[in-house]
Amino acid sequence: MSLQGDVETRCPSCGREFEAPVWSFVHGGRDEALRERVKARECNLLLCPACEAAFTPEVPWVYYEPEAEILAFVFPESFRAEEARWRGKMREDFAQMRGLLGDRLPVDLEPEVYFGSEGLAELLEAEDWRRDERDVMEHYARELGLSLYRASPRWARAHAAPSELPYRGGGRATRAALLEGLKALVAANDRLAAWSDYLAALEKDAAAGPPPPAAAAFR
Ligand SMILES: [Zn+2]
Repeated sequence: MSLQGDVETRCPSCGREFEAPVWSFVHGGRDEALRERVKARECNLLLCPACEAAFTPEVPWVYYEPEAEILAFVFPESFRAEEARWRGKMREDFAQMRGLLGDRLPVDLEPEVYFGSEGLAELLEAEDWRRDERDVMEHYARELGLSLYRASPRWARAHAAPSELPYRGGGRATRAALLEGLKALVAANDRLAAWSDYLAALEKDAAAGPPPPAAAAFR
């Protein structure tokens, strides 16, 4: 669930001080409207009651979307000048958060750090684009009677690879089963570029096995 609290803030245009509700923790997986606000660069955007200037208060917040394996610390743009200090602060907070969220966080998780809302908004836009592509792929995979292997979304982003992969048979997603599934998919629709690129990469690297699975613990 997302968390909101009142903070004392000051309008950068006219100097008026006022109290306003600000999100400190956004659960993008549970709150679609709030996720949309993040994408629109409007999360925590306030309107000054005196001069109506729009501004974002100097308050850090956390974005969490377990399905996509995203945990991000968003610091105000102005904090960038002291990046090392805030990254240190993030590590402290993250250690605490790990205690609270417990084993729902994978052990090797390194949170993303952003200064300003732009980077996270772009990440979510890219995720939506991938999701649309994935829906098309799933449609073809179903028609072809293929199974789906859910790879780690973090791994997929880091390798510019799709996070859901078709494979042949109902058993384990072995390298051979993935190759068969991908070939059948690409033969049925040659415009699914993410999957044909991944197929080419997998064929080229004879030692490559299936990618790491999505962390069940992260859901
Ligand atoms: Zn103002």
